[in-house]
Amino acid sequence: MTARDPGRRPLLNRRLTEFGTTIFAEMSALAVRTGAINLGQGFPDTDGPEEIREAAVRALRDGRGNQYPPGPGVPELRAAIADHQQRRYDLAFDPDTEVLVTAGATEAVAAALLALVEPGDEVIALEPYYDSYAACIGMAGGVRVPVTLRPRDGAYHLDLDELRDAVTDNTRLILLNTPHNPTGTVLTRAELAAIAELAVERDLLVVTDEVYEHLVFDGEHVPIATFPGMRERTVTISSAGKTFSFTGWKVGWVTSTPELVTTVRAAKQFLTYVSAGPFQYAVAEALRLPDSYFDDLRTDLRAKRDLLSAGLTAAGFDVYRPAGTYFVTTDIRPLGESDGFAFCRALPDRCGVVAVPNAVFYDHRDQGAPFVRFAFCKRTDVLTEAATRLKTLAS
Ligand code: PMP
Ligand code: GLN
Repeated sequence: MTARDPGRRPLLNRRLTEFGTTIFAEMSALAVRTGAINLGQGFPDTDGPEEIREAAVRALRDGRGNQYPPGPGVPELRAAIADHQQRRYDLAFDPDTEVLVTAGATEAVAAALLALVEPGDEVIALEPYYDSYAACIGMAGGVRVPVTLRPRDGAYHLDLDELRDAVTDNTRLILLNTPHNPTGTVLTRAELAAIAELAVERDLLVVTDEVYEHLVFDGEHVPIATFPGMRERTVTISSAGKTFSFTGWKVGWVTSTPELVTTVRAAKQFLTYVSAGPFQYAVAEALRLPDSYFDDLRTDLRAKRDLLSAGLTAAGFDVYRPAGTYFVTTDIRPLGESDGFAFCRALPDRCGVVAVPNAVFYDHRDQGAPFVRFAFCKRTDVLTEAATRLKTLAS
């Protein structure tokens, strides 16, 4: 066999060429190479609850999930997801027809977009957006229509008029993300009500990524599926990764109508078919942890948000206060910098810390240029050390 002549045609198809390597891989590799503190990729540096880890071990040992689990997910997990939606949000889903377990939220987003979007369909997404959205819209042949969240009064906000203006006759769906990565914005009840009204009025589907649903520090998380007329047009996505601090397990899920779940599954079955068998049993137990678990997680991360935010402020950054998620976005211009990419590439050498340039989450790259994201889902001593190192930038 000979390698194909690279001159003939690029190997990578044109739907993927613009995306390159994900920034998370690039920045985590930079952290490993330089030994810097990794506040780039969002993963906790301590594992989730011991009893949940043990539940996974038990499932493995007992031979539960070691062979292909059922396509929609193991019944125990589907029941736990339905109960969680009922207990938290008073949303009733039939575990047999309205719940689908996926390989993380990443696969759920991919499957939803691949299943629902025809080439040429417009997909509205809140910019800056999580990097897999652009790639999945691209793979589906869709056209992304960014609606930009803008900083004002120390936080990022959605302009509802801009969102309304972005809807055209070609709009297939709105891809929401609340709490929002990377800005930490949590859409308010009033904003969600307005988005819901728009979706109903223009007969749009909504795919909503709510993986940070339990990480809200100010305000509340309200699923858009709870608004009038929305349950039947919303694909809700979440994941165990952030809620239980097991990001490597990749257990996610979709809740929606039977028709929409069947549609998403049509794509999902050919992506992974199934995944994470034993972990599905463990996540079923995790979802039934008492409220105190979720309260403690939030309280712990809120304190970490405050610790890192104070450190960044002391180091001279302008800090946009995140109401939720793992991340705090900063403006580097007060430090005399304007290019987040260059800043992040130099940061390990300058002070031994890794961060992520928000520009990668923008179509309007210029709008994201001076913003940099730091993750605070790390041990307190790590955040304290990072703050000490960052402070050297100010001198
Ligand atoms: N959506 C958002 C907004 C995220 O930040 C992430 C990454 N943590 C994901 C989806 C992916 O979630 P998972 O690891 O469950 O695939
Ligand atoms: N969601 C994580 C982040 O935003 C990264 C997940 C990934 O590496 N794909 O940092």
